[in-house]
Amino acid sequence: MRTITIKPKALTHNLNQVKQRAPRSKVLAMVKSNAYGHGVAAVLPALQQADGIGVATLTEALEARQLGWEKTIGLVEGAFSADEWQQAIDHEISCVIHHGPQLEWALQNVPPASNATNVVWLKYNTGMNRLGFNAEGVLSAAKRLHEAGYQLILATHFANADDHDHPLNAMQIERFSSVLATLKDTISPDILGSLCNSAGVVNFPEYHYDWVRPGIILYGSSPVVDKSAQELDLQPAMEFSAQIMALQTVNANDSIGYGSRWRAKQDTRTALVSVGYGDGYPRVISDDAYVTVIDANDNHSYRCPVIGRVAMDMIVIDVSKTPESLAIDSKVMLWGDAPRVDEVAGHAGTISYELLCRLSIRPNRTQG
Ligand SMILES: *Cc1c(COP(=O)(O)O)cnc(C)c1O
Repeated sequence: MRTITIKPKALTHNLNQVKQRAPRSKVLAMVKSNAYGHGVAAVLPALQQADGIGVATLTEALEARQLGWEKTIGLVEGAFSADEWQQAIDHEISCVIHHGPQLEWALQNVPPASNATNVVWLKYNTGMNRLGFNAEGVLSAAKRLHEAGYQLILATHFANADDHDHPLNAMQIERFSSVLATLKDTISPDILGSLCNSAGVVNFPEYHYDWVRPGIILYGSSPVVDKSAQELDLQPAMEFSAQIMALQTVNANDSIGYGSRWRAKQDTRTALVSVGYGDGYPRVISDDAYVTVIDANDNHSYRCPVIGRVAMDMIVIDVSKTPESLAIDSKVMLWGDAPRVDEVAGHAGTISYELLCRLSIRPNRTQG
């Protein structure tokens, strides 16, 4: 049995950590990509104290509405067509506007002031160079939207907020604060600002503005390069586990698995674990990768290296350090308290975001 256990208490704890760090800002909790793989339905009840949620696609926004989320929903890539703009109005979704066609759809079809779509997140490209208007474009778009009756939030996105001293951070902050000041002076003092993702919340407390947009931090991963999740007092919102399905001893010089990648230096006790890349455990993983085995006999925990190639349905681990009596139905933690998903991501040459998002539908899902 492979199991993904979502921890509502951890989500609420992590949200509170964000609120403590950004006490004067509203929180748009990012739940795009099925809540970073955790499942939107599983996380929304634990995020009730957020002021809104953020998603990437209209489908995700409608799913959240269907699940009963009544507060703000921010659509961070905005509408993809005039028809989607109308659907956003119908379901009171607040959209990002990042290019000319979206601006025209909004100007041709203005929702009443009471409709949440009347609040527009106007995207300013401060240096990421993906979405957004340049400084000139943002001023002219803001003027036209304001005159049409829209309420505005100037928004931008950091390219390097995880690395505090990266020179682009200061430049993005400078561009953002100066254009926001100009908009407030020349168009309306009521225009709000939104700059920070999770890393920005941690690294740039002076620049939280009116709305912060945390994602990964809510799920208990560290968003910054120089501090671990433990150092930031974050709790893992997901535990990914499986079970031992067989125990074996391989002889010295015998190899294990596809490609015979791992060869035993001495006689070695091993366990087969019922999980693989078909579940979302990364196939390419370094020799430092490990799991935690919790012996079903006495609940003692053991750190056990992953050996041999990760296959679709199983992995092999070295259980030499566990007692001979290790129970066959013992639980194997792939990530959770130990190892943290950040560590596994490091061993797989990727980031926690990707490991979380690419979990497959095969594991059972539960809450704990
Ligand atoms: C995904 C996203 C975020 C959250 O990023 P994290 O690094 O997970 O905190 C914030 N803002 C925008 C526009 C996003 O797309």
